[in-house]
Amino acid sequence: MKILVINSGSSSIKYKLFDMPSQRLISKGAISHIREKGSKFSNHYAGLKIILQEIKSVDAVGHRVVHGAEKFKKPILVDQNVIKGIKKCCSIAPLHNPANLAGILACKKLLPGIKQVAVFDTAFHQSIPEQAYIYGLPYDYYQKLGIRKYGFHGTSHEYVAHEASRILKEPLNKLKLITCHLGNGCSITAIDKGKSVDTSMGFTPLEGLIMGTRCGDTDPALITYIMHKKRIDTKEMDRILNKESGLKGISGITNDVRLLEEKANAGNRRAKLALDIFVYRIRKYIGAYLSVLCGLDALVFTAGIGENQPAIRDKICRGLFTYSRVKPKVLVIPTNEELMIARQTFKLIKGE
Ligand code: ADP
Repeated sequence: MKILVINSGSSSIKYKLFDMPSQRLISKGAISHIREKGSKFSNHYAGLKIILQEIKSVDAVGHRVVHGAEKFKKPILVDQNVIKGIKKCCSIAPLHNPANLAGILACKKLLPGIKQVAVFDTAFHQSIPEQAYIYGLPYDYYQKLGIRKYGFHGTSHEYVAHEASRILKEPLNKLKLITCHLGNGCSITAIDKGKSVDTSMGFTPLEGLIMGTRCGDTDPALITYIMHKKRIDTKEMDRILNKESGLKGISGITNDVRLLEEKANAGNRRAKLALDIFVYRIRKYIGAYLSVLCGLDALVFTAGIGENQPAIRDKICRGLFTYSRVKPKVLVIPTNEELMIARQTFKLIKGE
């Protein structure tokens, strides 16, 4: 069965085509500059049309959808109700869900009769218990506005957890894992018996670790203080927290860890400080999740930084378990969110 995996962003569509159940990657590619001035792709439909001309035949489609809120706890076959549900989640994921939906609607038109499955970034974290997902805010904000921790990168954390179980030759339901997805966006998850029990990202992907350009955890009172002092509105504040903070904001140089390491090694103080803060925050979260899990079999690193920056991994792990009776394995596992989506799509369609 040929399964097309679509990751539809605001101005791009990335795809991978898999043969299932062999999991062989048949082809992959991307279309960019959708809806941009002067582009030949005025919408997602036009972009997808080109992709489908290239890949010719498809048996099913798996879509990455960023936000499923509490409605979608697992992958689901797309129908009108699901489309309505994804639309409803647009208000809490305005940057991502509309683009994901545009990909689904374009596929529906271009591939009538072909089954489509939506796989949600938030779904894996739906097992997080109430005590970890409710914020210290008035409770009716949760009831009326859906304000709670959702967590993201779920497909990646789930994929590397399965890989860890395969590598360790231990069933997932016997393992305690901490998975660190360290890319431009960074998140860390505590996984007990294959279920996410806590994760660092929150209501939005801004919470938690220091990231390329996102601030991660900060004093919430700072937001109004900065807005007042700098005389900026909510839109500008949002931009600063998401695009001008994190490694880029601290170093004043870049969000690219490769360049920061180069600069730090050449004696640049701010580059070194940015990396030290990045590592320190990750170590704090690992400490916290050790006490959430009460044990640990493996610490897993994945994504751009996690997979390719041994110096950062070393700094995170140095002395971390010296005084602990817990001696976990440390694994580096390349993530493959598209393969996880293909597996889940295949499983759902076969099980129908
Ligand atoms: P995204 O979240 O955008 O998918 P990535 O997972 O590609 O991001 O991670 C980007 C980060 O990984 C950058 O900070 C970059 O410096 C770092 N990185 C380190 N080594 C590599 C490498 N060999 N290839 C790509 N990114 C790398």
